[in-house]
Amino acid sequence: NLVISEGEIFRSLYTKGIKPDGVQTLSKDMVKMICWEYDVEVIDAVPFKVEEMAKKKEILDEDDLDKLEDRPPVLTIMGHVDHGKTTLLDHIRKSKVAASEAGGITQGIGAYKVQVPFDGKTQTCVFLDTPGHEAFGAMRARGARVTDIAVIVVAADDGIRPQTEEAIAHAKVAGVPIVIAINKIDKGGANPDRVMQELSSIGLMPEDWGGETPMVKTSALKGDNIDDLLETVMLVAELQELKANPQRKAKGTVIEAGLEKSKGPVATFIVQNGTLRRGDIIVCGEAFGKVRALFDDGGKRVDEAGPSIPVLVTGLNTVPSAGDEFEVVESLDLAREKAELQAESLRNERLSAKAGDGKVTLSSLASAVSVGKQTGLDLHQLNVVLRVDLQGSIEAVRQALQVLPQDNVTLKFLLQATGDVSTSDVDLAVASKAVIFGFNVKVPGSVKSYAENKHVEIRLYKVIYELIDDVRNAMEGLLELVE
Ligand code: GDP
Repeated sequence: NLVISEGEIFRSLYTKGIKPDGVQTLSKDMVKMICWEYDVEVIDAVPFKVEEMAKKKEILDEDDLDKLEDRPPVLTIMGHVDHGKTTLLDHIRKSKVAASEAGGITQGIGAYKVQVPFDGKTQTCVFLDTPGHEAFGAMRARGARVTDIAVIVVAADDGIRPQTEEAIAHAKVAGVPIVIAINKIDKGGANPDRVMQELSSIGLMPEDWGGETPMVKTSALKGDNIDDLLETVMLVAELQELKANPQRKAKGTVIEAGLEKSKGPVATFIVQNGTLRRGDIIVCGEAFGKVRALFDDGGKRVDEAGPSIPVLVTGLNTVPSAGDEFEVVESLDLAREKAELQAESLRNERLSAKAGDGKVTLSSLASAVSVGKQTGLDLHQLNVVLRVDLQGSIEAVRQALQVLPQDNVTLKFLLQATGDVSTSDVDLAVASKAVIFGFNVKVPGSVKSYAENKHVEIRLYKVIYELIDDVRNAMEGLLELVE
């Protein structure tokens, strides 16, 4: 596997005393060094933008490196509507959450812990409670990276459907490993082999067939093979060597937030590093405050929460947004100051989004060109999300575009799907710096303004040749810009 994870790149940089912040480019030599370190073949190192990594800000610091401990994996369930995501989540929650907690009727906090027997011990994993790729994409678009593994549910009687492909695209772009649950195997008409065939045709080869993607045949309704699924997930987690340093001030991400009558502003945090304690002073996007109380996923008051553990927090002055990062700081003054800075930078962002005319520019396209990680850091790549009217058009457009010379800039289709452009497409484009091409489709007004806010290009065409010409021009222009 040629891909080096963001975490590994960070680690490698930290051990060399380099702390990537702001928009930064790694030099050729640095890229080579990291490649050697991870035994990745260097074909032709090119400067590599760490902008995306910098945006999500470092989770691990240099000081953490000698105090790292294993942490539980955080999982998200995605897949097409009606394929069984909610049923699967419910089943896991009911059967696996510790009996003492399952007793009382508690309102969910947006994530829950599950105990899984694995490797001779009982181990914890954490499920995010909002299934679907929309939430996942929205968090990613804000630079948040909470999920360690994506469980993608595909109904065995239905096979791959548009949202299956969207979910896979989101997971791939985020570099999150995928475990497939081939669900509804109890149903008449279930054909797991056909699903495996379909998945392998889009690049997910089942482990059983010698590939790299674990697939488990489940019935979420009857509870069949759910233990297998969880075990598989833990196995994948083990390979990822997920670690954090519990002995430091906490930081992490908001996964849900709201206003409760009795509690005021509440937010569910996933702690990603360190340990969060009652009384800690936190800043969290535009919100700040002192942690008044912490509640676990069973609604029970707790004094602290360590890495990967979800907790509901009260004591913030206002409601933050899902995807906001939080951190513990020294004083309320500092917290207030940081929150105000954040509020100001958001205001400026909105203003500059308004000022821009949303027109296509080459340089904005150039920023959509990233170095092809998958291919061993050797090529420039233009990431594309393609939306078309009819299934048949996908092949037509693809074939036409493949004709373009791709010696120096390659086209990479992150998603090709039918239907109008959606906000989730825009999130995907943000997370991967992609351009959206629409062929005979529409962009709803709300999606258009969302894209403008996020500085994402949406280019619409009605004639195939115009699309081709435009892409050719863009690619030629890009070549000049990137060389
Ligand atoms: P979601 O939209 O992906 O969250 O799908 P749901 O969990 O709501 O499931 C949609 C429908 O499929 C519901 O009627 C479920 O009872 C049913 N369903 C889910 N999993 C299974 C399964 O393993 N077997 C069968 N026969 N039905 C299932």
